[in-house]
Amino acid sequence: MQNRAIDVHCHFFNLSFAFAEVLEIGWRWIHGDYPYKSDERGLPKVFVIMPPELRELAHYVASYFAAATDSPEEHYAYEERCCQKSQWHLSEPLITVPLMMDIFFMFDHGETEAQKAVMLALPEILQRDGLNAMMITEDNADRFDELAQIIKAEFIPVYEKSISARNLTPTLFAKNITTISRELDLVIADFKAGHAAEGVRTMAKSCTQTSVQMTWGYRKHLLELQNLQRDNPGTVLPFLAVDPRRIGIEELVREQVVKGAFKGVKLYPPLGYLPTHPNLYPVYRLCIEHNIPVTVHTSTGGLLSLCDTIKTQSKKKNGEIVPVTFDKKTNKSAALFFSNPANWLEILENSEFSGLHLNFAHFGGEEHISTLANQQPGEPDDSENWTLQIIGLMERFKNVYADISYCPDNDMLNYIQNIVGRYKIVQERLMFGTDYIMVMKESSLGGNLDHYFNLYTDIYPEMLNVNPAAFLG
Ligand SMILES: [Zn+2]
Repeated sequence: MQNRAIDVHCHFFNLSFAFAEVLEIGWRWIHGDYPYKSDERGLPKVFVIMPPELRELAHYVASYFAAATDSPEEHYAYEERCCQKSQWHLSEPLITVPLMMDIFFMFDHGETEAQKAVMLALPEILQRDGLNAMMITEDNADRFDELAQIIKAEFIPVYEKSISARNLTPTLFAKNITTISRELDLVIADFKAGHAAEGVRTMAKSCTQTSVQMTWGYRKHLLELQNLQRDNPGTVLPFLAVDPRRIGIEELVREQVVKGAFKGVKLYPPLGYLPTHPNLYPVYRLCIEHNIPVTVHTSTGGLLSLCDTIKTQSKKKNGEIVPVTFDKKTNKSAALFFSNPANWLEILENSEFSGLHLNFAHFGGEEHISTLANQQPGEPDDSENWTLQIIGLMERFKNVYADISYCPDNDMLNYIQNIVGRYKIVQERLMFGTDYIMVMKESSLGGNLDHYFNLYTDIYPEMLNVNPAAFLG
């Protein structure tokens, strides 16, 4: 792997995945079963009208995933094609690291701990949960259809808008809309046929010790990446999305990463949790024990929790667990609150975890990178600059890395050179990454991923292979 080029950060998910998760969030939410099942009886509950917050969620998620309509195989083939077409002139295929995403908890206020506790105490509820909560019967099929059509009606216009910039012929435009509409209908049909519920139950059962809470979109994408890895061993190294609120997540890491097809763990804190969440400690322990790399989203952009307040927890170095409340009014944004690299000090300063292979994705974000690079000599350091904070962590901890995914600025190579000139460590810790398919939203790429590769043709060679290979172990 040492001489092969690696894209350490990409995504092969799509709009259908996002639609399935939003549909499950919505169906559970209007029954009081979100994110955990509220009782074990499975009795029909009062159906409230589709609340405006759910429409907002559907619209927001759709806008984030609108560019991604291909299957994981097609995404992978496209990325390889673009790399071959670029000025890189590689003799061997690019090694890709597709990262999963877990968006199911982005609507969770954190006030359902009691429901979660019941499910934990009675694992059979969890076993039945997938089946009961997502079972669409004759009695409730109309209501499910109503909900599904409302959510679909939020998705389609967003997709239409996203492809309207592509100058398609009216026929091709209409064909694209029909295709995506059919794909969303297939997701709806899956739920109605009970596939979602059955699939969720099968997965939960396959876990040896405890049950794992599964949602349909998450499970489906997990299986897709398993297959893609199996068909492309050595060039597809997927990372499992870990959210500490998903019941049984430690077990899932054991099954899918320690023993399975997944190479590493992906965290996405701005969806509403801190890296010090107590449930992540057992995961970090597995990562240390089995040399598993962790990539964490670290920029002020990206998908954010839509909750105005979130109740969560943080576990300190000394083992103390403290309640934490995020409030949009005082904490400004979920990104600033949850993604701050300084949140990792409690983990890395803990001698048990100081050797964690940790990648701060996006290197703090393009804004922070350019600000640091443009700093004038003699100007005082800005301790709030995330790129600088990450460099500080690289200097202190031997396995801290960063990637420059989703940095399509034309001046990026100059910025990197400038930063390496001042902070030598960056040359051995920074890694190349694209953030395909997310980066395709950038109009500067003109819909061609090869432009992104071309931007980085003259990048330090170690950032393409030596550093990522060391990070991946
Ligand atoms: Zn990403």
